[in-house]
Amino acid sequence: MTQTPPQHTPITQFPVKDNQLIIGGIALSRLAQRVGNTPFYAYDRSVMTRRVAELRRQMPPDLKIHYAMKANPMPAVVQHMADIVDGFDLASAGEMKVALDTTMPVEHISMAGPGKRTAELSQAIAAGITIHVESFHELETIAQLSEQSGIQACVAVRINPAFELKASGMKMGGGPKQFGIDEELLPEALKLIRTLGLDFQGFHIYSGSQNLKAEAIIEAQQKSIALAVQLSEHCPCPIKKLNIGGGYGIPYFPGDAPLDTQAVGNALAQPMADFKTAMPEAEVIIELGRYLVGEAGIYVCEVLDKKISRGQSYLIVNGGLHHHLAASGNFGQVIRKNYPVAIGNKMHGKDLETVSIVGPLCTPLDILADKMQLPKAEIGDLVVVYQSGAYGYTASPNKFLSQPDAMEVLV
Ligand SMILES: *Cc1c(COP(=O)(O)O)cnc(C)c1O
Repeated sequence: MTQTPPQHTPITQFPVKDNQLIIGGIALSRLAQRVGNTPFYAYDRSVMTRRVAELRRQMPPDLKIHYAMKANPMPAVVQHMADIVDGFDLASAGEMKVALDTTMPVEHISMAGPGKRTAELSQAIAAGITIHVESFHELETIAQLSEQSGIQACVAVRINPAFELKASGMKMGGGPKQFGIDEELLPEALKLIRTLGLDFQGFHIYSGSQNLKAEAIIEAQQKSIALAVQLSEHCPCPIKKLNIGGGYGIPYFPGDAPLDTQAVGNALAQPMADFKTAMPEAEVIIELGRYLVGEAGIYVCEVLDKKISRGQSYLIVNGGLHHHLAASGNFGQVIRKNYPVAIGNKMHGKDLETVSIVGPLCTPLDILADKMQLPKAEIGDLVVVYQSGAYGYTASPNKFLSQPDAMEVLV
């Protein structure tokens, strides 16, 4: 028996009709005409809505689902998320502006991040959002600003736990970290919050990103709840909010299997019920970025040229790493792997060829697909990069080589 190489998880979130990928109910070629130029990002709101609805069915019913805006801060996307999630987590005053322009109530908005500027803290206090405090210095600054403005600041403490989120694409807790206050120092931090007279909301424990292993997430969530219970005796008042993070990943590369979110939800039910019994006033929150929006987006560019170099076929497209750093393999990947890619106007093409798809930049790093088997494409065809709804455009160096900007549309 020959072993088949690992394949990409099939893309099922978008229909295909008459050889065209359909996004937001519109055939891709028609959408490209509507947008007016390529490259562009398109985000399908129905895919986000379905994802949140499905997640709510799988998670305990009283679990709050927050959207971590940095995954995709496009204002139209954020307003759409405001209608379907329970809150926002943001990471800068820039994101705060977008969040406050939506209909999301401020009580359900929080801000985290190491190194918040004084101006940002003062804006957050005036807005009335919950600040996730990440250091003692920050705590003192918040207290001063509170006193100056006469507005009591709402704070939660971001904890750098002693445990790690295992098997995570990016670890953000455990060991020495720039994020949060070390677990051991929490009693001292809580005492200071009491002394300073700040409005204490609860805890935030975020340990990592892009995790596809249900067991690892289950373990981190259980440990986070246990840690909050253990620290509760030091709190100046009962915990109102416990944000246990997220890190739910999506499949990008050959061999990646989707996260078993049903297993995560099932395992969370009992610890959460126990926590609610001990702390009936507290709401338990998960915060997700990528998982909510990542699969809803595509990046679309156009074939400008086609050539063969010493036997290898290249499609040269008008987009690349300046718009989509992650798909080029340069955003935290150790070994470059291909994102799932399609020829969006030749979805059923039977005549296949092995091609590399490269961008217009003068660097060999500008590559969107390395030797993939795809339907034969010609100049003018539309290359689609899937799984592009999160950490796409705003996570890319779009000034590099002074290429035109990409458009973003929500359909
Ligand atoms: C980045 C980040 C998130 C979102 O991570 P995803 O992997 O996109 O779900 C959530 N919370 C915090 C504190 C973050 O820094």
